[in-house]
Amino acid sequence: MRLSLARQLHSKLSSAGRTAISTASRAYTTHSQLPSEHQMVYEMCRKFADEELAPNAGKWDKEHSFPREAIDKLAELGLMGINVSADHNGSELDALSYAIAMEEISRGCASVGVIMSAHNSLYLYPLDTFGSEELKEQYVAPFTGHERNEKGDLKIGCFGLSEPGNGSDAGAASTTAKDDGDGWIINGTKAWITNAHEAGAAIVFATTDKSLKHKGISAFVVPTDAPGFSLGAKEDKLGIRASSTANLIMDNVKIPKSNLIGEPGQGFKIAMQTLDGGRIGVAGQALGIASASIDCAVKYALERNAFGKPIAQLQSIQNMISKMVVARDSARLLTWRAAQMKDNKEKFTREAAIAKLAASEAATMCAHQAIQILGGMGYVSDMPAERHYRDARITEIYEGTSEIQHLVIASDVLKEYKQNY
Ligand SMILES: Cc1cc2nc3c(=O)[nH]c(=O)nc-3n(C[C@H](O)[C@H](O)[C@H](O)COP(=O)(O)OP(=O)(O)OC[C@H]3O[C@@H](n4cnc5c(N)ncnc54)[C@H](O)[C@@H]3O)c2cc1C
Repeated sequence: MRLSLARQLHSKLSSAGRTAISTASRAYTTHSQLPSEHQMVYEMCRKFADEELAPNAGKWDKEHSFPREAIDKLAELGLMGINVSADHNGSELDALSYAIAMEEISRGCASVGVIMSAHNSLYLYPLDTFGSEELKEQYVAPFTGHERNEKGDLKIGCFGLSEPGNGSDAGAASTTAKDDGDGWIINGTKAWITNAHEAGAAIVFATTDKSLKHKGISAFVVPTDAPGFSLGAKEDKLGIRASSTANLIMDNVKIPKSNLIGEPGQGFKIAMQTLDGGRIGVAGQALGIASASIDCAVKYALERNAFGKPIAQLQSIQNMISKMVVARDSARLLTWRAAQMKDNKEKFTREAAIAKLAASEAATMCAHQAIQILGGMGYVSDMPAERHYRDARITEIYEGTSEIQHLVIASDVLKEYKQNY
């Protein structure tokens, strides 16, 4: 039933929706203006989030438990290969659909949101875009929610760029890949990797020629059951606690020659292009956390009385609600703009960084204000506000910190001015 809905969306979008987005270049500003196909994605994800994610998110967070059943259902909905072509078992939906889905899923549970985004935008995208047909058959098609491993779990992927010694400075990778004639030998540790403990395969960036610095980095796909591959302990995190984050440790891991993604030395470019798209996903996740914070705060303000009337009638509370909605709505427009530019095949690096920066700041501000509106009830785990506050914080850190987004935005603006004025 669910799978057929994803298929139905795909075929509708192939004919009408995608043409409408790419040719009309219309900027959508509200959900009601979206083409009917995108509204279907919105409604499907919203219903799923309300019925199956939000009621369980607090429990998964407390138990630090990976939400296996929810991920199975995401796969049934076609969301675990959302942008992959139908030829490789994907739903072949566009970036705008992805942004909409990420917001709704993360509104239900931000941990499910990060599992979905790391798998789709960080693992599947680089393989589907730069990988050979052989790699797509082996590492994309089975990873779109259609195949299970020997334990019976769905195959999912992860993305290893950061290292213990370098995060923002991704070009300084110290993990190495040596050509030994009939394969690549990988050595090094990747740090903070989302989905590490569940992944069947990892995208790994390693230097094939240190003298070339970032131009000597190449991208590989590494099966996590390869001899010499091991995992660090799960990090004990502030938020998104139902997702796993851990080191990938590679000690003389041998992979076939054909597991190189793209060309030798193309890795840094692949990583940066992957992160451009990934930032639309994180912006969607941040919007979801902002929306969940607003839902919780407004409902509470309407019910809670102080000085003989609902606190929603107090102007200070109304100011907070207004600031939250302005920040969330502006960030959503920026996110949809970046997604539509990606769909229209325009350069969108600056716009994705702007969207991620604005949405992550909106998420942390909304989560902060929601606690303020709830007073003491905001500070305890009986209500979801404190979880939103903890979950929001990571959106300002991963896939490029806010400082790195400022660098990306400003350097693009300066380049434009130098060239044109
Ligand atoms: C929960 C979680 C999940 C993650 N998932 C993944 C994943 O799946 N895959 C992956 O590869 N990585 C992942 N990361 C890593 C994440 O992307 C990095 O933590 C992030 O890029 C920042 O790198 P860092 O922690 O090394 O901080 P650093 O780079 O050491 O930065 C420390 C501080 O210095 C600032 N700074 C650094 N350079 C500059 C500069 N040039 N200008 C101005 N300020 C600067 C930063 O903004 C920050 O405030 C994850 C991290 C976490 C916490």
